[in-house]
Amino acid sequence: MFSSASRAGFRLSRAATGTVVRRMAMSTLNSGGNGAQQAKTRTPRLRTLKRIVFGAALGGLTYTSWLMYRNRNPETQLPFDPSKKTLVLLGTGWGSTTVLKNLDTENFNVVVVSPRNYFLFTPLLPSCTVGTIENRSIMEPVRLLMRHKTREVKFYEAECTDIDAAKKELTLERRVDSDGNEVKPGEGETTKINYDYLVVGVGGTVNTFGTPGVEQHACFLKEMGDARKIRRRLMDSVESASFDDITDAERDRLLHMVVVGGGPTGIEYAGELHDFLVDDLTQWYPELADRVRITLVEALPNVLPAFDKKLIDYTQSTFKENKITILTRTMVKEVKDKSFTVQNPDGSRSEIPYGLLVWATGIKSQPVVNKIREQFAAAQTNGRGLLVDEYLRVKGAKDVWALGDCALSGYAPLAQVAAQQGKWLSRHLNRLAADNAQNPEADLHALIEEKSRPFKYSSQGSLAYIGSEKAIADLPFFNRNITAGGIATFWFWKSAYLSELFSLRNSTLVASDWVKRFFFGRDISRE
Ligand code: FAD
Ligand code: NAD
Repeated sequence: MFSSASRAGFRLSRAATGTVVRRMAMSTLNSGGNGAQQAKTRTPRLRTLKRIVFGAALGGLTYTSWLMYRNRNPETQLPFDPSKKTLVLLGTGWGSTTVLKNLDTENFNVVVVSPRNYFLFTPLLPSCTVGTIENRSIMEPVRLLMRHKTREVKFYEAECTDIDAAKKELTLERRVDSDGNEVKPGEGETTKINYDYLVVGVGGTVNTFGTPGVEQHACFLKEMGDARKIRRRLMDSVESASFDDITDAERDRLLHMVVVGGGPTGIEYAGELHDFLVDDLTQWYPELADRVRITLVEALPNVLPAFDKKLIDYTQSTFKENKITILTRTMVKEVKDKSFTVQNPDGSRSEIPYGLLVWATGIKSQPVVNKIREQFAAAQTNGRGLLVDEYLRVKGAKDVWALGDCALSGYAPLAQVAAQQGKWLSRHLNRLAADNAQNPEADLHALIEEKSRPFKYSSQGSLAYIGSEKAIADLPFFNRNITAGGIATFWFWKSAYLSELFSLRNSTLVASDWVKRFFFGRDISRE
């Protein structure tokens, strides 16, 4: 299966094609004898088939048009109902947006708080750094979703910075001033709001492990703003390297692209960068392309520690073929503006010049999570996030749930975990709230345990793009896992993500970006 997946796929299609050709040849030969008779019986069948195909196409088109019409023309919504409880959702990521999508807003007055007024489809974020996909194709404005709920939903574009659990009060801080300029944490305008129920889905923030110079000089790959910054820095490095009056050493520095962290984020970014180099830079910067080097630095003995050994080997050999240098057992100790320091496997230190450095070493808690933990200090004893029970209730708290990367639920920080938790939580809140519509004082926090089964994650497997139109997959199959890598897996990766995108709008935009790239290449403009 593994690594011969593409060959297997090819064999299958050849065999299938052969059968079709043989059948066609047979039918042509047979038609020699009683051809007129056969043509007669075939015609009605063909006509029926044509009608079915035509009907299906028309049905599909009508349904799509109706979906588009409905999206553009939302119905009138119910206003906030003072007799209902207020449910505040923190965040517009995988967890909170899934809750919002599936929540029956008739049961609650829902308020959403997030510094980001859109949902971001993170699995395709590495593709945005080099223009394989345009940024807006993987962003879905949260107001489109809110406007389609039965009852109005209130949205605050702000960060929750503090919580007073006794008063059930949250402090929100705006990240932009009245002129639209970004403001530093602690300097924005603040607002206070109250909640009856609180769902915390604030994700994580980049972990620099306190490494000096990372915040100042490295690029991250977590939010859309990061992808935009990487694209600008990448093109700046290449354009600066094309000046004639710089030394060769300086040109080589500018064209040295470094990725720190061999987890899936670092691997996918390095893969995209390689494609950009081979497909586009070679065409438009032929004098520079040969000098571009990509290096991936990983502290552990191999990349992708969470993947199957065969997939690790396959990724490492693909990177070798693609001339991406992998430095394993090598830890970045400091980042300066033009070079970084590593600790080599033998313990010695080296200084390596770079033009662009992307830091992808995982995540840690958001500051607000620490504030929430402080409120329930006796039960919240783990600094990596919010400890939750099997019903996603924040331990030690009342009427507070947490999900996704900010919750310590025993599962990996993955989009699929956050989305499944979001579905589970909304389903249970809907059911309990509906059950207790007659009794507004019902205690959902307690009822959830009485009336629900605990949350259980069901893994759909892992997929990662590794460059040169190859992907790797580790998929559950009955009681075991199957692994696959190569070009066929890449097409599987594409179709899986296309079907998982948030909306028809997103899927259409991403598909058209892929087609656009195929015909016109990537856009190499700086912005
Ligand atoms: P997020 O999606 O990070 O959302 C957090 C939300 O909270 C955001 O809207 C943020 O603006 C908001 N927020 C932050 N602070 C505050 C605050 N103080 N107050 C209010 N709101 C706040 N996982 C997979 O399973 N498969 C993949 O292929 C995959 N690819 C990835 C690729 C990349 C480049 C990255 C970075 C991650 C990838 N992941 C993938 C991991 C996945 O994105 C996360 O596990 C997932 O986003 C977690 O969802 P979440 O809802 O917990 O947090
Ligand atoms: P990660 O935690 O998975 O990997 C970070 C890597 O950086 C680790 O291997 C670590 O050893 C290395 N590292 C840390 N400090 C270092 C240093 N100073 N020098 C060199 N190497 C260092 O982080 P990630 O890749 O950002 O992923 C975060 C989460 O998102 C994970 O749960 C991951 O599974 C998920 N994710 C999944 C996908 C996918 O499924 N395709 C894609 C991206 C992210």
